[in-house]
Amino acid sequence: MSFQEFGLEEKIVHGAQRLRYIDPTPIQAEAIPRILAGVDIIGSAQTGTGKTAAFVLPMLSKLKNTGKLRALIVEPTRELAAQVFEVCQDLSHFTDMHITLLHGGVKYENQKKSLSQNPDVVIATPGRLLDHLQQKQLNFNCLEMLVIDEADRMLDMGFIPDIRRIINYCPDKRQTLLFSATVAQAIESLASWAMVNPEKIIIGHRQSPAETVAHAFYPVARDQKFELLLELLEQSHYESVIVFCRTKAETDKISSWLDTHGHTVAVLHSDRSQSQRTKALQEFKAGKAEVLVATDIAARGLDISTVTHVINFDIPQNPEDYVHRIGRTGRAAATGDALTLITGEDLDQVRSIEHYIGKSVEKKKIANFCYTYTALLDKSPRAKSSSRSRRRKR
Ligand code: AMP
Repeated sequence: MSFQEFGLEEKIVHGAQRLRYIDPTPIQAEAIPRILAGVDIIGSAQTGTGKTAAFVLPMLSKLKNTGKLRALIVEPTRELAAQVFEVCQDLSHFTDMHITLLHGGVKYENQKKSLSQNPDVVIATPGRLLDHLQQKQLNFNCLEMLVIDEADRMLDMGFIPDIRRIINYCPDKRQTLLFSATVAQAIESLASWAMVNPEKIIIGHRQSPAETVAHAFYPVARDQKFELLLELLEQSHYESVIVFCRTKAETDKISSWLDTHGHTVAVLHSDRSQSQRTKALQEFKAGKAEVLVATDIAARGLDISTVTHVINFDIPQNPEDYVHRIGRTGRAAATGDALTLITGEDLDQVRSIEHYIGKSVEKKKIANFCYTYTALLDKSPRAKSSSRSRRRKR
């Protein structure tokens, strides 16, 4: 089916065409007709599958008359909220809809001004949205549609009580859409409280990493992790790369270390100011910074098509985060490489990742690197290069 055949408003179809969306992706084909029919949806799909447009296209199409707040999208992080805001703006390009973005870390004044202009759609993170609600800067009297995106991330970040508070401000008669990579008990109970006869849409196996990503583990002694990271960057033919670390302090340490070794680096974690976070993403997207060093704040949903490599400097604590992190590359059917440094202390996580994704990940050694001994190396075959051939930028 084409976008026109779904019965989407013509102006919205034109918005999709402007972004060169020709054929609907599987989640769009499943979700759009149901959302247009007014059904509550619990959706789960692999990252990079077009999930955002799957709810934004029918949502915009249903909001025919402008001038009242009728749709709310709640996102767990500022970066995701800003990304979804951009998609909404792009897809509503040929309409006169007013869309407002609300998130923390920036002054209230511009947000209040935007709210006073009666937005049709609000995209928000939970904390700042509740602030505005408590200050009566907006109300949901005319709200028709609520989207709770990345619900499992909301759960990880402790936002579920805030989400319940937000839902309490919403009218009972509304359509609710909930998207979540996994549906834990807490999310099931949120859904059964907040939704009416929701239909489930599951596209692909949630455990599986994108098929377009090649992944490998790199065993190393703990005190050689920095050197191995540098060498992996040296030997990878990357266009741009995200390096994931476990803590904010480590993120800062590694970024300054890479900086002193000649890499142009952007840093993203939650202790940075909003202007620093925005600037880091802008520089990374524009190619001014070739490496983004980040905590798991960047693991979900960020859609940056130039990312050819993800390096896990620290193995993620839980296997779902592994799948999310490596999903930052190989987007929209492009290929990508995911490299994970592992030490003897990481074996439990290695096993649980392999169990979760249902296959063992190749353990590799790189050439021309002077390894100090770790028992992990005994079983690792030598690999010539960490990556498939790609344009070398540096
Ligand atoms: P998402 O899963 O929402 O992060 O989307 C992943 C990427 O797919 C984004 O860059 C979208 O612009 C792109 N995309 C979404 N829908 C389509 C479509 N129907 N055709 C082509 N690209 C799309």
